[in-house]
Amino acid sequence: MNAIADNLARVHERIRAAAAAAARSPDDIRLLAVSKSRGADAIEMAADTGQHEFGENYLQEAAGKIAALAGNNLTWHFIGPIQSNKTRDIATQFDWVHSVDRFKIARRLSEQRPGGLPPLNICLQVNISAEASKSGVAPDQLEELAKATSDLPQLRLRGLMAIPAPAETCAAQREPFARLRQHFSRLQQAGLALDTLSMGMSDDLEAAILEGSTLVRVGTAIFGPRA
Ligand SMILES: *Cc1c(COP(=O)(O)O)cnc(C)c1O
Repeated sequence: MNAIADNLARVHERIRAAAAAAARSPDDIRLLAVSKSRGADAIEMAADTGQHEFGENYLQEAAGKIAALAGNNLTWHFIGPIQSNKTRDIATQFDWVHSVDRFKIARRLSEQRPGGLPPLNICLQVNISAEASKSGVAPDQLEELAKATSDLPQLRLRGLMAIPAPAETCAAQREPFARLRQHFSRLQQAGLALDTLSMGMSDDLEAAILEGSTLVRVGTAIFGPRA
């Protein structure tokens, strides 16, 4: 096995173990391979093992890879900060966007999603650790944004995403994930049909799965350290 296949097997094992500890089915947790800064060759190696969902942060960098791998039937998730002059290309080239944090961006993505494609899947990014420097909608504005976004015709609101501030212990990592899950439940109770809780990365995927993550976004543990 090559290193990427090896690493992917290890990540799947971590997901299985965390799911077992949480008394959940591992089938309810999807793995998004975060391929920012990796070449199309690395993505293809992962795809050859059966990994089909990939996450990218920068439109310019992603576009070439998406084109090069067009025959591989992959699903592309945009997970980086969104500038409004990039929404047309994002709405055209991606299947999912996890980093929507304001209505202006949601409305542009809906307006610019090509009619021949299915609705664009959306997660709202929540600034769960209330960091001034981080993107994400403030929790007290989340419900209003979620309701407005769910009314847009070419979008399908699927759930929430967050990148908490780093924490050392599993208990400390779980705390912001638990809060995100509470927001998720609250929106479901308000009548929104959400099914995706996008939380957990290489260093905290176990904590995220214990708190109900349905999609972990993993880069380093699959592809190795970034340059
Ligand atoms: C880079 C990135 C990841 C993956 O981080 P790793 O620590 O390499 O697993 C996940 N989510 C987002 C939004 C990222 O930008």
